Amino acid sequence: MPKDTKISKEQSIRRTKFVTELIISAAVICAGGCLIKGVADRSQTVGTSPFADVTEVAEIPESTTEAPDPNAVIYDTVSRPLTDIFKGELILVNNYNEYIGGSEDLVSILEMNEQTGRTCFTTVDYSYMLAADAYEPLAQMIEDFYNRTGIDNLTIYGSYRTREYQQELYDAALISEETEDYARVAKPGYSEHESGYAIDFSTIPDYDFNGTGEYAWFAENCWKYGYILRYPEGKEDITEIQYEPWHFRYVGVPHAYYMWKNGITMEEYMELLKEHPYDPTGALHLSFSDDNGKLYEVYYVAADFSADTANIPVPNGVKSTISGNNSDGFIVTVYIGEAPEAEEAPSAPSDEDTDEGSDGDELDDDSSGEDENISEEW
Ligand SMILES: [Zn+2]
Repeated sequence: MPKDTKISKEQSIRRTKFVTELIISAAVICAGGCLIKGVADRSQTVGTSPFADVTEVAEIPESTTEAPDPNAVIYDTVSRPLTDIFKGELILVNNYNEYIGGSEDLVSILEMNEQTGRTCFTTVDYSYMLAADAYEPLAQMIEDFYNRTGIDNLTIYGSYRTREYQQELYDAALISEETEDYARVAKPGYSEHESGYAIDFSTIPDYDFNGTGEYAWFAENCWKYGYILRYPEGKEDITEIQYEPWHFRYVGVPHAYYMWKNGITMEEYMELLKEHPYDPTGALHLSFSDDNGKLYEVYYVAADFSADTANIPVPNGVKSTISGNNSDGFIVTVYIGEAPEAEEAPSAPSDEDTDEGSDGDELDDDSSGEDENISEEW
C-alpha cells in the first residue's frame, strides 16, 4: 500500500503539476489571445473610427486638388423681368435691334442745368430730355471742356426723341427730294435717340460740330464720362451709319473705355461680350482695367425666353450693375474692389480732369433750331 500511496502521491503531484501547467498555459494563451484581440480590436477601431472615416480619408487627395478657393467669388441670383432685356445703358439700338422703350427715366437738360447752376452749355428748349443717368456725366464732360478751353458755345441739338418725332423726321425725309436723306434717317423705333442715351452736339451760332480743333477733345476724352463716339469714321460698314462727329452715346465708363481703347464700335463690343458668358470661376469673363487703374469684369447672361423672369448671377459683396443688351440677354458689369450699393448708380467720371465746376458766360437759351441739322439727327 505504501507503494500505492507513493504512486498515488506521485500521481497527485504530477496531476497537480499538470493542472498548474495547464492553468499557466491557459493563462498564457488567454493573455496572448487577449493581446492579439486587443491589437485586432485596435486595428479594427482605426478602420471604423468616426474620427478617421475610411471614406473621408480616401477622398482627401481629390478634395485637396479641388479645394474651394477661400477668395472665390460667391454669386447671388437677381431676378429681373425678362422685358428688362430692352432696358439699360448697354442696349444696342440699330437697324437690326428695335428700341422697345416706354419706361424711360428722363430729365430735362435745361431744368437740370438750372438746378445745378450750369451755364457753360445749353440746348434748344425745355423739352430736350436725356436719360437721368446720362445727364451728370454729360454736364461734367462739357464743364471740363469749358474749363480747359473757355469755349462755351456748345448746345445739345439732339437728345431724347419720341417715336412720333422720329416718325416725323422719317416722313419728312421720305418726301424729301433728297433720297440720300431717306437712307440716312433711321426708321422709327431704330434710332437710339429714342432711348434717351444719345446726344448730338452743335455749336452756336453756326450749328456746326465737326469734332475738329479744340472739339476733338470730346472724342478722345468722352470715355472718362461713360460716353462713346457712336458712329466713328471708317466703321460705316459696321454701324451702317455715316461718320457722325456730333453724335455721342452714354454706355458707362468701363464699356466706353474698352471701346475707345480697342477702337471698336458698340456693335463689335456687344458681339464680343457674347464670347464672355457667365462663368462661376470668372475665367470666361472679360476682365480689364482702365487708364485710372480701376478693375472691371464684364459678362453676358443669355436670356431664357421660356420664362417671364430672368435669373441673373451677380457677385456677392462687390458692386455690380445689370443692363439688357436689347436682343437676347443681359450684361453684368462688376466694379472690382468697390462695395455694393443699394441702388445702381451712374458711373462717375474719373477724378482726372475733373476740376471744380465753373460758371461760364450766360448763353441765349432760345436758339433758332434751324432745319439744316435735321439730316444730322438719327
Ligand atoms: Zn444723333
